[in-house]
Amino acid sequence: MAKIYYDSDADLNVLKGKTIVFFGFGNQGAAQAQNLRDSGIPNEKIIIANREDNYAVDAKSKGFTVWHDFAKAAEVADVIFLLIPDQVQPRVFNAITSKLKDTAAIVVASGYNVFFKLLNFRPTQDVTMVAPRMIGSSVRSLYEKGKGFPCFVSVEQDGTGNGLAVALALSRAIGATKTGAIASSVREETAMDLFAEQGLWPNIIMLFREAYSVLKEAGCSDEALVYEMWMSKEPAEIFEAAAEEGFIKQLKHHSSVSQYGQLNGALKLDGTAIRAHFKEILYNQVLNGKFQKEFTAIEDALELQGDANPLNQLYKKSEESELGQGEKRVRARLGLS
Ligand code: NDP
Repeated sequence: MAKIYYDSDADLNVLKGKTIVFFGFGNQGAAQAQNLRDSGIPNEKIIIANREDNYAVDAKSKGFTVWHDFAKAAEVADVIFLLIPDQVQPRVFNAITSKLKDTAAIVVASGYNVFFKLLNFRPTQDVTMVAPRMIGSSVRSLYEKGKGFPCFVSVEQDGTGNGLAVALALSRAIGATKTGAIASSVREETAMDLFAEQGLWPNIIMLFREAYSVLKEAGCSDEALVYEMWMSKEPAEIFEAAAEEGFIKQLKHHSSVSQYGQLNGALKLDGTAIRAHFKEILYNQVLNGKFQKEFTAIEDALELQGDANPLNQLYKKSEESELGQGEKRVRARLGLS
């Protein structure tokens, strides 16, 4: 059973006198910095490092001290939150890592770069993960309502011997231990995240794509299919109910015909082939670093325009499917973009 940490496990005094630097004031950075300050960390001990643009303007308008020189900010940091996009972290962090104190605590909100060893740390430093399972706006709004949010916490390198105390104090300060922060690891977080993205959801997309084509061939209209399958928001409601009441129990909201069809149908399906496929994705694509290397090789091209950008090519190909074309027709007819 995973350990769950609550406010009572964390001592904010551990952070007393420490200078806390945020690299980035985006989705997570803006939310976590504000929560931390509202938890009593003095404003003068918080520095936002950001390039000179709208994010910096936003941070200044919220009363934060903003520095544009990342290296200078690294020099004074006792704690550094890496809250810039995952794909730019190695370039930005490794350029300033020599400026960091030997005893600095480095905090990531995602396991990816630490698990794949893309960031350069010194053995004397603490490396921790405090990873909210929520978008930044919810991290902020739940904190403002006095509520917590689900979060993973781990110490990956305990250079100072005080890594866990610092990680828990930071988790409490951003509001993550209010309803319980789950002890995890960068391996677990990365495995689950990338597996969902590369194993689970591609299969769900494929199932919808094929189901659409089969029903279209059977004479169903695009209009009916698009509404029936997702535009009614029924799938969203099902997952909402699954979170509230239970993954299986939510079925009780459906008709008896539906409950019987779903439960009996799922039990009859043989999962052997998909289990083998999932294991292949998890071990031979995610955990062995194959995907990470593949992604690193194409990531610079993601800045390009048009077909030179591999993501644009994937969108184009996906939209060529019957589902993609059908939805396009329906949305155009309804005047939706
Ligand atoms: P954002 O995309 O919101 O980050 C934007 C911030 O990063 C801005 O301050 C931006 O400033 C800065 N930034 C972008 N590019 C660069 C660059 N090349 N050099 C310096 N700064 C840069 O990131 P998120 O908040 O979404 O993600 C941050 C971390 O949190 C990631 O590790 C992510 O995996 C994790 N996370 C995200 C969640 C989410 O819901 N988004 C949920 C849980 C974890 P500017 O452009 O001005 O330079």
